[in-house]
Amino acid sequence: MHPIILVSPRNAKLRTRIDENGHQAIGSLSNCAVAELLAVAADSAKMPLQKALRRASRKAFMWPEEASLIIQQGRSLKELPAVGPTLERIIRSWLENPPDVPAPPPIRQHFLTATETRATLADNPDWLHAVKGDLQMHTVWSDGSGSIEDMARAAIERGYKFIAITDHSKGLKIAGGINEEQLQQQSEEIATINAKLKSEGHLLQVLRSIELNIDPRGHGDMDSKALASLDLVLGCFHSALRKKEDQTERYIAGLRNPVVHVLGHPRGRIYNYRLGLDADWERVFTVAAELDKAVEIDGYPDRQDLSLDLLRLAKKAGCRISFGTDSHDPLQLRFMDYSLAAAIRAGIRRDRILNFLNADELRDWAQSVRNR
Ligand SMILES: [Zn+2]
Repeated sequence: MHPIILVSPRNAKLRTRIDENGHQAIGSLSNCAVAELLAVAADSAKMPLQKALRRASRKAFMWPEEASLIIQQGRSLKELPAVGPTLERIIRSWLENPPDVPAPPPIRQHFLTATETRATLADNPDWLHAVKGDLQMHTVWSDGSGSIEDMARAAIERGYKFIAITDHSKGLKIAGGINEEQLQQQSEEIATINAKLKSEGHLLQVLRSIELNIDPRGHGDMDSKALASLDLVLGCFHSALRKKEDQTERYIAGLRNPVVHVLGHPRGRIYNYRLGLDADWERVFTVAAELDKAVEIDGYPDRQDLSLDLLRLAKKAGCRISFGTDSHDPLQLRFMDYSLAAAIRAGIRRDRILNFLNADELRDWAQSVRNR
């Protein structure tokens, strides 16, 4: 066994993290720092270790506890997702002798760890209790693994009043996108489930929605008539996401598309995989505010899109914000923590966030956007 040289138990509860300049805060290495060390180590590792390091780097943002705390308590790091014997040895050596942690490159910047989100929520407990619903999730109708009813039951467990079912639209074949006819069938299934839940005395309402695939010109891939009866439409870009040039016009075109209420996962970034698009964000958010539309905080840990830096600009512009976990199974509804924590840290007011409205107010807003 290696000697354990770490912060004293008294300091163990200190939340350590990398500051804006990438410097490690006082104390032992945070999960965020461990994630960065794993990603850097992956760059010079050979397969299959490289793959394991990359995977653990990503998963570190979902670890439920600080790795340093687990070591201090004499437990095994193998309790953590994506950590096996080899990675345990590597991470343990870092925690015992903390190396310098380099500033993350942009492709890994502005991601919150699960422990950071929990700390923020612990300081603002009323947010978690007040959030009324989740506005992005997928089911077996497209690429999710749960049924609509599975998602609804999990949402009831969380105390929600509404969820929006946002399966992919037909243009996104790779994600099993649904066409107009399937969307209609899905609406019928939702009506049946809503009636059933109501008869059981539940207050949750399942909203009919879609993750509409929009092209770089802002055009959707579905007949607008099929979308008119939905409660809410998310518009999302899924193509040409590695463009380096300014994409402001694409965003403005997407926002101006009359069927779109919410711009989902706006940048299209994915941790350590894709940086996402760039734009004159102040202008984009100003246009969203003028049109009274929303931009999303996709809470999926690898996405966290919009991120804090952009959310501060969105706050200034005053546009509406939507939280969506982008869940692909019922357990992922917990990713709401990331959306909530990002909004709190960016100082977004609750009255700007769709998820704090009740279902009727949300429908009224969606209708008023359509009537503009
Ligand atoms: Zn998407």
